[in-house]
Amino acid sequence: MSDTPVAQQILIVGAGVFGLSTALSLLSNPTYNASRITIIDASPSLPNPSGSSVDANRIVRADYADKHYAQLALQAQELWRDTRKEAWGGEGRYHEPGFVLTADEDKDAYLRESLANVRRLAQESGRDVDSSKIRELHGQDEIRKATGYDGVSGDHGYANFNSGWADAEACVAHALRRIQSESDGRVAIRPGAQVARLVFSGSECQGVELAGGEQILAELTILAAGAWSPSLIDLQGRCLATGQTVAFLEISPEEQAAMGNRPTVMNMSRGTFIIPPRGKELKIARHGYGYRNPVKISKGVIKPDAPSDIDPGYVEVSVPKVGIPIPLEAEEALREALCELLPQMANRPFTRSRICWYCDTPSGDFLITFHPDFKRLFLATGGSGHGFKFFPVIGDKIVSAIQGTLEPELAQIWRWRSEEDLRDTIQRGGDGGGEFTGCEDGSRAGPKGMVLGEEMQRQKSR
Ligand SMILES: Cc1cc2nc3c(=O)[nH]c(=O)nc-3n(C[C@H](O)[C@H](O)[C@H](O)COP(=O)(O)OP(=O)(O)OC[C@H]3O[C@@H](n4cnc5c(N)ncnc54)[C@H](O)[C@@H]3O)c2cc1C
Repeated sequence: MSDTPVAQQILIVGAGVFGLSTALSLLSNPTYNASRITIIDASPSLPNPSGSSVDANRIVRADYADKHYAQLALQAQELWRDTRKEAWGGEGRYHEPGFVLTADEDKDAYLRESLANVRRLAQESGRDVDSSKIRELHGQDEIRKATGYDGVSGDHGYANFNSGWADAEACVAHALRRIQSESDGRVAIRPGAQVARLVFSGSECQGVELAGGEQILAELTILAAGAWSPSLIDLQGRCLATGQTVAFLEISPEEQAAMGNRPTVMNMSRGTFIIPPRGKELKIARHGYGYRNPVKISKGVIKPDAPSDIDPGYVEVSVPKVGIPIPLEAEEALREALCELLPQMANRPFTRSRICWYCDTPSGDFLITFHPDFKRLFLATGGSGHGFKFFPVIGDKIVSAIQGTLEPELAQIWRWRSEEDLRDTIQRGGDGGGEFTGCEDGSRAGPKGMVLGEEMQRQKSR
C-alpha cells in the first residue's frame, strides 16, 4: 500500500472505458469516501460518439495469446454474463453467440497460443467455462459450419462459444448513469471541457487548464484520454494514436433474423472481422496496424510550462482525426472480406464509415502507472485496441495501481517501460528504422506504416 495520503480532489480526464471504470471503482472503495471526483471530457455530449469506447459493439473474449489478458478477460466475462437489469450484461448490453478466429498459415502461432490459453482457463475455472464450447476447426467446411456463413475466410482456426460481444455505446451510457446514481453528490461529470494543457508546479501535476482558460486543480490527475493521451503529455514513444477502420451496411429484417445470433468472425491473417448485426446494421472492421496522423505540436502543449528550461521546439505526435470517411484502401480491404464471407453483400453500399482511434503501445500492453517524472499524475491509457472488454474490471486494477497494491505481474506488464525495453519491442517487430509505427502484440494484420494524409491523397488522385 502506498504511503501517499489519499487524494481528496481527484480529476479524471476522459469519459471512456478507462476513465469511467476508474470512477466506478473509486466510488465503491471506502478509502475514497471523502474524495470528490471530477470527470471531464472534451466531447460536448456523452457518450462521446468519437471516443473509442463508443460504437455499435465490441468483442468480449478471453481468446488471447497472453495469459494475463486471457485471465483478466475471464474475470470480466463473469460480470458481463450477469444479465440482471443493473448489471453489466443487463438490458441487452451483452450477448454470447461465440467468436470464430480463423487464419492462414502466418498467424498460426497466435491462434495456437490463444486456443491453449482458453482451454487451460476452461479447465481451471471448472463449471464457469464450458470447454466443450471450444472447438478446433480444420479446414473450410468446419469453419463454415461454425460461423453459419456460406462464405469462408481463412483455412483453419477455432471457435469459442464462450465469447461474445457488448453494445459499446449502451455500456458507456450505463456506466455514466451508474456514476450519477451512486455518486451521492461526490462526482461531477463535465462534458464539453477540453483540456488545453496539464498544469504543473515544478515536477508536480496540479490539474489541467481548459481551452477557455479555466483551471481545474486536483491532488491527483488521472489521464485517461485514450488516443488523445500522447498529445496531452509527452509519452516519449510509449503510446501512438492509430486510426482503424469501421464500416456499416444496411441489412433487411430477414438478414437480421438470419445473422443476429451468429458468432463474431475474425480472420487473424487479414485483421478483418464481422460482428453479428443489431438494428438491421452489419458492422465490418479491421484490427490492423492502422494509420498514423503525424502532426507537429508545440512541446509546450504536452510538457509543463512551469520549468523555465523547457525546449520551445516542436514534437511530432500522431493526433486522432475524427469525422472523416475511411480511405479507399480500407474500403477495398473490407469489401474483400465481405466478398469472402458474405459475397451477396460485397457490393452493397456502406451506410456510414468511421476511423476509430486506438491508443497503441509497442507491445499492446496497457499503460497504467504513475508518470515517472511528474508527481500526482497517473496514466490510465494505452488500450491498444482491446481495452473495452475489461470495462467491468479495469477500474479496480487502476485504483489498485494508484494505491500500490496491483498484482506484481500486472504492474510489470503495464509499467512505464525503459527506453531499452521499448527499443527491443520495436525491433522485434521489425519496425522500419526502429521507429514505433505499429503495435506488435501478434494480433495485428494488414499494411504497416500507413499515414492517413497519404492514404487520403492517394484516394483523391485515383
Ligand atoms: C474500431 C475499434 C474497435 C475496437 N474493438 C474492440 C473490441 O472488439 N474489444 C475490445 O475489448 N476493445 C476494442 N477496442 C478497444 C477499446 O474500445 C479501447 O481500448 C477502449 O475503449 C479505450 O477506452 P479509453 O477510455 O482509453 O478511450 P476513449 O473511449 O477514447 O476515451 C477517452 C476520452 O478522452 C477524451 N479526451 C481526449 N482528449 C481530451 C482533452 N484534451 N480534454 C478532455 N477530454 C479529452 C475523449 O473525448 C474521449 O471521450 C476497439 C477500439 C476501436 C477504435
